[in-house]
Amino acid sequence: LFVCFEGGDGAGKSTQVRLLADALTARGHEVVVTRQPGGTELGARIRDLVLHGDHVAPRAEALLFAADKAHHVDELIRPALRAGRVVVTDRYTDSSIAYQGAGRDLGAGEIRALQHWAVGGLLPDLTIVLDVPASVGRARRGAEHDRLESEADAFHEAVRRGFLALAAQDAGRYLVVDATSPVRDLHEQVLARVDAALAA
Ligand code: C5P
Repeated sequence: LFVCFEGGDGAGKSTQVRLLADALTARGHEVVVTRQPGGTELGARIRDLVLHGDHVAPRAEALLFAADKAHHVDELIRPALRAGRVVVTDRYTDSSIAYQGAGRDLGAGEIRALQHWAVGGLLPDLTIVLDVPASVGRARRGAEHDRLESEADAFHEAVRRGFLALAAQDAGRYLVVDATSPVRDLHEQVLARVDAALAA
């Protein structure tokens, strides 16, 4: 099973990733937790270049994140799925469609095509969108610490609309949750949906 968490900065993805992974491990599943950008050694270098380097032109940003994904899928995600593991990733192609497509205004259709090419068409079985207003995300993440997090609220609201539009197009493959809810409630909603997917 391939599960992905998506959502804006400060939505609480890493907490939910950890809670889900722990719950599945406790039930005897072999779980691989990963993230994008930065799930491989090469990816970590790309992450550092894009997030902590000097200015990166928007198209270059999109291509570098696509390269991160291409490598990540070939080297880590596909082998893990083939070995029967549950893969839980913190961000995947939808982040690029939302951040570079909607946020940077590069065109969601083109970014989507680029992303799908990069990952060889591999889509998650289930994508969980932690939906959070930009102002709440900003308050939660505290001091800005990377180039993208420091974008204005308008950018983050465009990203948010990008995620919701993606979820609306393919509702059966998505669970959208209100990320301002308590952590435990969110986890229970997520786990119920993942259990249903595992049973299917
Ligand atoms: O969620 P995480 O902290 O790992 O994300 C790192 C940063 O990369 C975030 O600021 C996110 O906004 C940005 N990002 C992006 N485009 C992607 C993936 C992440 O702009 N495709």
